[in-house]
Amino acid sequence: MVVTRFAPSPTGRLHVGNIRTALHNWLWARRNGGRFLLRIDDTDAERSEERYVDAIRADLAWLGLTPDAEVRQSERFALYGERFDALVAAGRVYPAYETAQELDLKRKILLGRGLPPVYDRAALSLTDVDRAKLEADGIRPHWRFRLDHDTPLAWDDLVRGPQRFEAATMSDPVVRRADGSWLYMLPSAIDDIDMGVTHVVRGEDHVSNTALQVQMFEAMGVTPPAFAHAALLTGAEGKLSKRLGSLGVDHFRDAGIEPAAVVSLLSRIGTSDPVEPFADPAPLIEGVDFARFGRAPARFDEAELAQVNARIVHQLGHDAVADRLPAGMGESEWLAVRPNLTRVAEAADWWRVIEGPIMGDIADADRAYLAQAAVEAEAIDWAADPWHALTARLKATTGRTGKALFLPLRRALTGLDHGPDMATLLPLIGRDRAIARLSA
Ligand code: GLU
Repeated sequence: MVVTRFAPSPTGRLHVGNIRTALHNWLWARRNGGRFLLRIDDTDAERSEERYVDAIRADLAWLGLTPDAEVRQSERFALYGERFDALVAAGRVYPAYETAQELDLKRKILLGRGLPPVYDRAALSLTDVDRAKLEADGIRPHWRFRLDHDTPLAWDDLVRGPQRFEAATMSDPVVRRADGSWLYMLPSAIDDIDMGVTHVVRGEDHVSNTALQVQMFEAMGVTPPAFAHAALLTGAEGKLSKRLGSLGVDHFRDAGIEPAAVVSLLSRIGTSDPVEPFADPAPLIEGVDFARFGRAPARFDEAELAQVNARIVHQLGHDAVADRLPAGMGESEWLAVRPNLTRVAEAADWWRVIEGPIMGDIADADRAYLAQAAVEAEAIDWAADPWHALTARLKATTGRTGKALFLPLRRALTGLDHGPDMATLLPLIGRDRAIARLSA
């Protein structure tokens, strides 16, 4: 059974990059009839906030990425403690006593000699007596995971292909602070084991963490899960953009973007499949394939999102939008107006014009012309194309052309100088209302 997880830290709102990661995990679980878990990474009590946990849930719900289960790291410290104790007993986690200043100095010395700033493992050569002395001085250790230098850090990434890092070129990662609090890496691996996660799907900024975590899984006696690291997201300009960090569900919703548009676009950018508008995500689920993810950054373009959105709106049935339409706007009106919209909310502009009342600003010089139009409107065939029939007759009978022909009609019929295409609008206004407006 495929199990994926989306593991945000509740230290802020989800942005478009996080949403894309959540989506990849959801698609993969759904594609394989598996489970999609939400794991709240709230080990950092200082920075985690409950309002962000609520916002993460609400954002996923809006997107339709409903988790099959939710777990919180802050409720799992006992498990982390047990696994940690076992790793300490096995010698894979060891205490280190250097202060931040000492470590900084060591790093600077190495860099000064042109060497990589890898931790020298001085703590490993401390004797029991040394440690007892340090602890007697009140120094509490932090804890490092001891990398096995004889085993390369390697995995076959579902996006990036074979990956390999030399353990000796990396510092033993700190997994627990002197105050007992956890850094992200070990609890994450413990949870992935405990929750049976089969696929860790995340951004490529985690590749170096994965190298270290591969050995943590092995040290806990488990074959690591499969990993898929998606290339990062960039702005339309192709650069890592600050703006992306502030774009999230609130922004999309306020801009009239449908969840399906976000899902359609983010599912396909950065892959070799074209971006297509799907009101129902089934084809996106069916087609998701990490082998089709590219190594180049994925470009997120808000203009493209707006285009996808319009094409989604054109597919939405009345049921899907009824609670967002003006009161009284029924299925036939929705279907007639829908092809002209880029956002569902624009339906209200059309409805106002269709329903009236209309306050036209009519010039005296146009009154006779409009009276004539009311007469012609009685005569034309309303079942076909009333706007073209009406304007053709008026052109012939009055000799008016261009603006003089069209604008007074638009004003009388809609109360506006600009607006939706009259040929689409006039049948919706309908014969009786149109004649009443022209003769008013
Ligand atoms: N909380 C981590 C993050 O948000 C989780 C990374 C992961 O393992 O997916 O970066």
